[in-house]
Amino acid sequence: MTSPEFAPGQIAAQPTPDVDVLVVGAGITGIYQLYRAREAGYSVQMLEAGDGVGGTWYWNRYPGARFDSESYTYAYLFSKELFEEWEWQEHFAEQPEIERYLNHVVDRFDLRRHIRFDARVVSAEYDEASGRWTIKVSDGTELRARYLVAATGVLSVPYYPDVPGREDFRGESYHTGRWPVAPVDFSGKRVAVIGTGSSGVQVIPAIVSEVASLTVYQRTANWCTPLNNGPITPTEQAQLRADFEAICETLNTSASGFLHQPCDRTAFEDSQDERRVFFEKMWRSPGFSKLTSNYSDLLIDEAANAAWCEFVSEKIREVVDDPETAEKLIPKEHRFGEKRPPFVNGYFEAYNVPHVDLVSLEQTPIVRMTEHGIETAAGEREFDIVVWATGFDFGTGALARMGIRGRGGLALVDHWADGPKTFLGVQTTEFPNFFFPGGPHAAAGNNPRYNGDQVDFVMDLLLHARALGCDTIEVERAAEDKWTAMVDRWATRAPSFGEISYYFGSNIPGKPRKYLLNSAGRPKLFAEIRKVLESDYEAFRISRSAEPAPTGA
Ligand code: NAP
Repeated sequence: MTSPEFAPGQIAAQPTPDVDVLVVGAGITGIYQLYRAREAGYSVQMLEAGDGVGGTWYWNRYPGARFDSESYTYAYLFSKELFEEWEWQEHFAEQPEIERYLNHVVDRFDLRRHIRFDARVVSAEYDEASGRWTIKVSDGTELRARYLVAATGVLSVPYYPDVPGREDFRGESYHTGRWPVAPVDFSGKRVAVIGTGSSGVQVIPAIVSEVASLTVYQRTANWCTPLNNGPITPTEQAQLRADFEAICETLNTSASGFLHQPCDRTAFEDSQDERRVFFEKMWRSPGFSKLTSNYSDLLIDEAANAAWCEFVSEKIREVVDDPETAEKLIPKEHRFGEKRPPFVNGYFEAYNVPHVDLVSLEQTPIVRMTEHGIETAAGEREFDIVVWATGFDFGTGALARMGIRGRGGLALVDHWADGPKTFLGVQTTEFPNFFFPGGPHAAAGNNPRYNGDQVDFVMDLLLHARALGCDTIEVERAAEDKWTAMVDRWATRAPSFGEISYYFGSNIPGKPRKYLLNSAGRPKLFAEIRKVLESDYEAFRISRSAEPAPTGA
């Protein structure tokens, strides 16, 4: 919900016609990029398709949407004052608090006047003669910018499966990734949820007590484990403030970007009893620590993974009353960590509510949508509301829809026809002065941490060019080839997400099966950035364009 105290669209500034830096997307990464570029004295215009700030945390406002990284580890660290003054209510904050926080940041650092809302980029073309980008916006306006930064994220284009008759359904339809600002009234309604990824499993328990009936359409079961959320006590708040420097040190240097401590043992160094005790501890531990603090060989050793999966399966059987439903909820075809695991609050318990029913699409696939509901191989069921929790066109979805053209009119979608080619997940050849922190080939872990590393690196580049009196930055092909080959090579190595994961684009029919993150992770990103800095930016061609440099550049 957008709360009334900030009416975002109303007080945004008019666009500056020519700017040094144009940032697309007012999500966590974009806001940080805007802050850093303003701090460095550049003129900046941010364009945001929504009518408020938040990006992913603006659009995904479905009931139950919340962080599954600890709030204070996902939040900004660039200002100690900001960290101290914002007291997160819960270890894993809910969407309304996240949206309030991001609005607070924007206002606290006087960034709102640089943001134009309801402004979707329809095309962005690079002009080689002037070394500038021309950006056309959905409202018919046009801007010219020296640097174009797409902070459009990896999870911003909702995916609707091509189910026959989808448009025929006459009831209410919502996608979790495009949830309306006006609250949806579920009370007394017959509701269907399609999809049981991280979004589906959050929305299901959040609405279960309101609805008349809830039917969950599950294609593949997921390895869900408890989020273990709770309020942050005053003592914990004081400790967080006292530990600010230590927290920054850990979050800014660790591989995963979490505070969790890695385990010093492999699974079979412990006896069976010890393993049981340890798994119980993991089950009760917060969020992602089931991955980051679990046995060190959990994702490498099949037997270790199977032992944990067996433990989780037992837990599901314990919680879910109906044995048949419990079996449907236990994944059979993938191991823990092969897909991005969801963390839940009351998810399995929801299936004990008498008006909740689980339909396995493996057993009875969807045939079509009808005017009144959903028809599967087992017949039609009628609904008032259908919730599509069916995911996103991950990684490249947003960039592919922005009409981006580089040198010689080359379209980004053609340049990346076989999958993204990048250096550090920050730049691609043939597209000078175009950057995409938080986009494809970024590291995997706690997103804002490595996306922030990428923003910092973009700023290093801009400032380095400025110091040289230059304004054009383009990555060398050799650097891009090497990084892309590294990403592809690491994609098939353990511990990596499997090809069934949407991280390979496998949820979108026809999309090239290429790994869309960087499974070598943040350490590799750090190492490569260090090399770039030590080699005096050897991986980049930095030059001066014909047109005089703009004010800040
Ligand atoms: P998702 O993980 O891609 O899940 C999509 C769901 O829709 C899956 O269950 C999928 O089934 C199902 N589906 C797709 N096509 C279908 C079809 N044709 N028929 C029936 N079912 C179909 O998407 P998501 O749940 O939105 O999550 C995406 C990512 O967003 C997460 O992995 C996470 O990174 C992020 N997220 C984070 C949080 C958080 O807590 N911070 C919350 C929500 C989302 P299959 O598994 O069989 O493909």
